[in-house]
Order: sequence, then structure tokens, then C-alpha cells
Amino acid sequence: MNWIELDRQHVWHPYNSLPSKSDLLSVKSTDKTSIFLEDGRELIDGMSSWWSCIHGYNHPRLIKAIKDQADIMPHIMFGGIAHEKASILASKLAKLTGLNSVFLCDSGSVSVEVALKTAIQYQEAKGLKKYKFISLEHAYHGDTLAAMSVCDPNNSMHSIYGSYLPKHIFTQAPELGFTADCSSSIKALEDTFLKHEKEVAGFILEPVVQGAGGMRIYNPEFLRKARELCSKYDILLIADEIATGFGHTGKMFACDWADIKPDIMTLGKGLTGGYMTMAAMITSKEVSDTISNSNLGILMHGPTFMGNPLACSVAIESLNLLEEGSWQKNVLNIEKIFKEELSYAKELNIVKDIRNIGAIGVIELKDESKAQEIQDYCVEHGVWIRPFGKLIYSIVAYTIKDEDLRRIIKTMIDAIKSIETR
Ligand SMILES: *Cc1c(COP(=O)(O)O)cnc(C)c1O
Repeated sequence: MNWIELDRQHVWHPYNSLPSKSDLLSVKSTDKTSIFLEDGRELIDGMSSWWSCIHGYNHPRLIKAIKDQADIMPHIMFGGIAHEKASILASKLAKLTGLNSVFLCDSGSVSVEVALKTAIQYQEAKGLKKYKFISLEHAYHGDTLAAMSVCDPNNSMHSIYGSYLPKHIFTQAPELGFTADCSSSIKALEDTFLKHEKEVAGFILEPVVQGAGGMRIYNPEFLRKARELCSKYDILLIADEIATGFGHTGKMFACDWADIKPDIMTLGKGLTGGYMTMAAMITSKEVSDTISNSNLGILMHGPTFMGNPLACSVAIESLNLLEEGSWQKNVLNIEKIFKEELSYAKELNIVKDIRNIGAIGVIELKDESKAQEIQDYCVEHGVWIRPFGKLIYSIVAYTIKDEDLRRIIKTMIDAIKSIETR
């Protein structure tokens, strides 16, 4: 029996039935920004594997980091044990973020869980019973239960798990647009803080770009205000930089657009260059000291694969590549190409909005139902994208060639045109 038949029998795919109701692409291998299918076709990758593969696939230095570490020590438990690669990675992350205390974990959603637990423990350590979180409409913070509970309640899986999830406080999302007037959402935020300050442990947000909840780019001014309010009410600011981190918006972290530091940051996706699963929750020294000096005195979390040395090694090498610095020039160039090429979508009837920042380009349609058709068209024409709902978007590796990026965007627009004329 061939493996594709085995997949149909046994493998549950993301957000899918078993077997899948739509065709799955059978991928054989990858290289740079190309995906090679079992049937011999080559697709240009417009997704960078859910925004993680920032240096492209099969990068010789990243591959070497994994191979070398595999010979030395592929894994060791982290409880009661320290190892060099974790300490190098943590110190690099501390330096890069301007924060201090690094908790390594398995995936983005888990780092959000740990961030929420940390915020609760911090408030407990101060003798406060604050168990609620403020989050934004259109927020996305992951698929595990606590992470889901701070995702937009209307636009996520809340309705499925409804009464199981804790109820948190949602405030108006910042207005769409990097330079938009955000006085209305700021006013709403002030009111929310005033009303709930006594019960709220933290305010979690995706800085500057709300990702999977709507690909919404907003004004960094909102972030500055969030920082100010959190400091004023001693509510922890949790910046979920899992999607935006490591250069995706043109700055190393999206918080840099507002020159602010959160109390807690979550990182994932691009952390290992997209080669291994790993995420991090990073806090200020104030937060880790407060918890460490409390009665309990410890942070209560410890995943089996915490600090996996293979993942640490490849993350270190990915950070080395970023430190060498050409990402910034590359992302600026990508941003310029997105801006130019996306403008051709503006006049199409079924297009509601186009927007872009850094390595992220988005076309929002007026109508929900066309995502699968657009994906199919792009694949037929040699491009891999995976739209959701009304959002046709691409987030590319920083190493993509100009002509490949132009082809991705042109194919996205052609796909929309093909639907419009049908
Ligand atoms: C992807 C994502 C997550 C979840 O990360 P996983 O590694 O998929 O668990 C959380 N927050 C944001 C902003 C994300 O984009």
C-alpha cells in the first residue's frame, strides 16, 4: 500500500476530518523557497510553512547545526540538568528582546499557556487574586485551551468549546491601518482597564499585526498606550510575537515599532528558522524575581522536551544568520515588491482591501467562500498559498528571489480574477 493511502486511513490533518475532505498535496522534498511534489511538480512557497521558515528550506548552516548536535546529544531531560546550547540560546534571546528570563517550551500555544500561568503566579506572589485577562477582538493566540480562551470569541473555536472555556475580557481591536487614527480603540481600552483593573492579571496582544484572527495591521501608537496603561495599573503586558517576531514586520520585534518592552513576550514560529518545534516565554527580571521570591518560589511548568538541544542548536544558528544582518535589507525589498504588485488587486470587484507590512502581504475579499478555489488555482499555477476565510495572503522567507515573489503575488491576483470572471 502506498503511503498516501496510509495517510488517508490514519492521519488526522490540521482543522480537518479523517480522511480529509479536500485533496492534500503529497510533498516529497523542499529546497530554498521551493516545494517538490511526489508527482514531480515544483511549487514556489508563499507560506514559509506557516510563517516559520524565515531563511528558506534546507539552509546548509541550519542543517549542519542539527546534524552536529545530533552526534553530540540529541536530547536530555531539562529537569535538574543544564546544557550549553540552552544557555547560549537563552542569553541570545535575552539580549535581543531586552528581557531577562527565558522559559523554553515546545510550541507557540504552549508558550502562551506558560505566559498566562506566569502572569497569574506573578499576581499571586504580590498577594493579588487576579485571574482574568484582557484580550483584543480578532486576537489569535493558539489552539490549546487557555490560549483559545484569549482568542476572539466570535472568530475562533469558542463556540465549539463554549462553556468549557474561562471567560476573559475582550476590548475593541485597534483600527485597521498602520497610520490609522486609533483614538476610539484607545478610549475603549482605557475604559476596559478602569472597569476591570482589580481582576486582571495581564493584557495579551499581538503587536502591530493581528495574524490568524484577521491579518490586521494597526498603529503602533496603540501599543504605546497599552504599555502606559499596563504600567499604571500593574497589569502585565504580554506581547505575543510568535508570528511577528524575528523580522516579519521589518523590525526584529513588532514591539520595536513603538519602542516599548512588554513584561512577557512569547516567541515561536521563526525561532528555529522553522526547522524544529520550539517556542519561548521570556519575562523581565522583575517578573521572574517576584515569582522566585514568593512563598511558592517556582514557576509550575515543565514540558518533557523542554530545552531540546537539537532545537536549541538550530535556533542559535538561525539567530546567528539574523545577526549577520541581511534580513533587514531583504525584508524591506520584499515589502516594496508586495506594495507594488498588490496594488494591481485594488480595483478588482471582489477585493475589499489590500495591505502589507514587512514580509507579509494580504488581500481581503468581500466574500468568505472562495479560499479553496483560490488555493487550487494557485497550486495549478505553481504557487503554494493557503488562504483562510476572506484572507488571501502570503508570508515569505526573507531569502526569496524577487521574480519568485512577484510570481506568487501575480498568481494570487490571477486566481482572484479567475473567480471574479466566473
Ligand atoms: C501560530 C501562533 C500561535 C500558536 O503557535 P503554535 O506553535 O501553532 O502552537 C500563537 N500566537 C500567535 C500570534 C501565532 O501566530
